[in-house]
Amino acid sequence: MKIIVTIKQVPNVTKVKWDADGSLIRAGLPTIINPVDKHAIEAALELKEKHGGEVIVISMGPGQVESALREALCMGADQAIQLTDRKFAGADTWATSYALGCAIKKIGDYDLVISGVEAMDGNTAQVGPQMAEFLGLPLLSYALGIESDGKKVQIQQKLGDFERKIEADFPALVTVEKEINEYRVTPMDKILEAFEKEIPVWEADDVDAELVHLGLKGSPTKLRKVFSPKIEKGKVQMLEGTPEEIARQVADKLNEKFLI
Ligand SMILES: Cc1cc2nc3c(=O)[nH]c(=O)nc-3n(C[C@H](O)[C@H](O)[C@H](O)COP(=O)(O)OP(=O)(O)OC[C@H]3O[C@@H](n4cnc5c(N)ncnc54)[C@H](O)[C@@H]3O)c2cc1C
Repeated sequence: MKIIVTIKQVPNVTKVKWDADGSLIRAGLPTIINPVDKHAIEAALELKEKHGGEVIVISMGPGQVESALREALCMGADQAIQLTDRKFAGADTWATSYALGCAIKKIGDYDLVISGVEAMDGNTAQVGPQMAEFLGLPLLSYALGIESDGKKVQIQQKLGDFERKIEADFPALVTVEKEINEYRVTPMDKILEAFEKEIPVWEADDVDAELVHLGLKGSPTKLRKVFSPKIEKGKVQMLEGTPEEIARQVADKLNEKFLI
């Protein structure tokens, strides 16, 4: 079974510092593998242990993503591929998904792509589904469990308060929740092996990516402002009337705020 896992390197938010204006100080911020992506790696490794095959991890980002890929190799991934090119800079989720999708096409002949549900910094949960769309793969999202007979993949899917089992033929793309497993502690022999492995760096031309879909220019969304919403505290309004009238008033207020 050939499994590709996409991993994102994110700032370690437990070490975040803020400047006097309340802005995040990014300089010197330590980075980690997006936590749920470690569960994606673990899910892939467990499938490989049952069915044989290989696990390939890929990450798009600046040169420093090598350390995230090296950590994934330490966990037991067989190969790592780094996507680094100035042409990828400023990518929104679609341009990110496109670049990763082109790399996955280049790797080719895969059975499964596994991603985390969402990144802890961007939090859009869009990259997995967009890659599935770009690659024309069935999408099995929010996996709490994953099983395979070597030809099909079946997941236990979390949908709010409900769960269900769904399956698809290979090749398919699965996004996993952190509850899916507990990831392994890296064994010492894997650490030594991991540091002997070469990590190829692929640029846009290597994955036949078209410039028009890459980076800031290829990004359909434009970031206008990032801010913390002001939370109004302590405002209580008493509603009066019959239960039906009060329910109607509550519904109107939620509607006004686009909450229903
Ligand atoms: C207009 C615009 C410009 C932007 N410019 C920049 C910029 O210059 N620099 C910057 O750092 N960010 C930039 N961003 C943010 C960037 O687009 C997102 O961080 C990125 O697309 C991933 O989205 P997300 O974090 O919401 O991931 P999600 O969709 O929440 O991630 C889901 C899963 O997808 C996979 N994944 C996501 N990203 C990657 C990756 N890079 N490599 C491998 N796997 C991945 C992981 O498995 C992850 O668990 C920009 C966003 C916009 C809208």
